[in-house]
Amino acid sequence: MTESVRHYEVLVVGAGPAGLAAAKAAALHGARVGLVDAQPRAGGQVWRHDIAHGVPAIARRALAAIEGEQIEFLAQAQIALAQPGWLLADGPGGARKLHYRNLVLATGARELLLPFPGWTLPGVTGAGGAQALAKQGWPLAGKRVLIAGSGPLLLASAATLRRHGARVLGIHEQASSAALARFALQLPRWPAKAAQALVLQAQLAGVGYQRGSVVVAAHGDTQVREVEIEGPRGRCRIACDQLAVGYGLVPNVELAQLLGCRLERTGAHPQVAVDAQLRSSVEHVFAAGEALGIGGRDCALIEGAIAGHMAAGNAKAAQVLLPRRRQARAFATLLQQTFALDHRVHALAQDDTLVCRCEDVPLGQLRGFSDQRDAKLASRCGMGACQGRICGTALAELGLADPRLSTDDGRRPPLFPVRLAALAGLPTEPSFTDDSQGIHP
Ligand SMILES: Cc1cc2nc3c(=O)[nH]c(=O)nc-3n(C[C@H](O)[C@H](O)[C@H](O)COP(=O)(O)OP(=O)(O)OC[C@H]3O[C@@H](n4cnc5c(N)ncnc54)[C@H](O)[C@@H]3O)c2cc1C
Repeated sequence: MTESVRHYEVLVVGAGPAGLAAAKAAALHGARVGLVDAQPRAGGQVWRHDIAHGVPAIARRALAAIEGEQIEFLAQAQIALAQPGWLLADGPGGARKLHYRNLVLATGARELLLPFPGWTLPGVTGAGGAQALAKQGWPLAGKRVLIAGSGPLLLASAATLRRHGARVLGIHEQASSAALARFALQLPRWPAKAAQALVLQAQLAGVGYQRGSVVVAAHGDTQVREVEIEGPRGRCRIACDQLAVGYGLVPNVELAQLLGCRLERTGAHPQVAVDAQLRSSVEHVFAAGEALGIGGRDCALIEGAIAGHMAAGNAKAAQVLLPRRRQARAFATLLQQTFALDHRVHALAQDDTLVCRCEDVPLGQLRGFSDQRDAKLASRCGMGACQGRICGTALAELGLADPRLSTDDGRRPPLFPVRLAALAGLPTEPSFTDDSQGIHP
């Protein structure tokens, strides 16, 4: 049975930097705001609560903003269904039907994990995944951890793991020395980013940063014991207790897709298409942050504020922020160019390497299909718990799957497993989009 129905003038999905900024901006204009997140606490990926070290001051300020009466925060509420004008959130607190006049999608991003021999061994995680585990109390003291993959998240993850007592053996970045040198030359154009880089450098003093270096295999029995690396000086093996490998981030577009929002693509992965004021192609639906393409925390904060002002009907306040957004997005483009994946990374998986970890499907079983749907029906690839979020994304990156840009056939509800009772009890309530019955003037 659906236990409650809520009505909001502005509903924000995702309580990361973008969602927090959107909720705050909308509330400034007096709107009644709902903020919903699947996680038990607000903060999103970057400000995930660290049980040993709390959250940084900037996060505390952003989190304090949602404590006012005008913003209702619904934690542990996962949006599983969407219709124009309302969403269904389900979680331990029960199912809730959330009606909105305007919606802001701030659903963030997830890590891009790519298959390589040994990647399913215990002790191998994503770089961001390892960071999240550390913050939740995963014991790391004295463990030898190797960090690899691509992008700035490797540095943030290494700093977190070190703070939690891990012995970080080294960071292996696949981008070339030349690409990183070009990046360093451009960095002073973004002084705040340059300052962040210096802080990370200080936190990681003594940790080696290898460029053009790729993990080609993890070896072990019941657990990873050794990692095989291919770098500019050839191959070598390094003994370790944990391996954290992440190849950047991929926008979470599934909810936007379910709502029928147009998607677009700059690389292998789709992102939500918006206009300059962050309006999606669907009326009353705005989007902000990583869902629009990977831009980082500061970009998410600016875009969240723009979307929040717009959703509350104040285009003038949004307009003021547009130049800052352009500047932040220019940095995102530089990141994309710098950390573009080397062809070696795309060729790591062998025919016997598992691609779909939920259903144990190796790469060799997926070759020869011209259509992603046929491959799925024949192999069960993507039919497990992650519903293709990991394997489908990896296949798209490897160029072996259609990234499903079409909004017609791309996504079927529910987005996540949902209790039958929640579906059975859906009440019929007037929505904001129904002018004749809406509860607001
Ligand atoms: C694992 C990981 C670790 C990261 N660590 C760092 C770091 O240390 N430093 C750094 O600068 N950047 C980090 N990033 C990058 C980071 O994602 C961004 O810079 C920033 O957090 C983006 O903010 P956002 O608000 O767009 O998205 P996010 O912070 O990703 O927030 C999105 C929120 O939406 C929620 N959500 C999504 N879909 C639904 C749904 N259907 N129902 C309910 N809730 C939903 C999620 O639970 C999440 O809390 C990390 C990214 C990942 C994936």
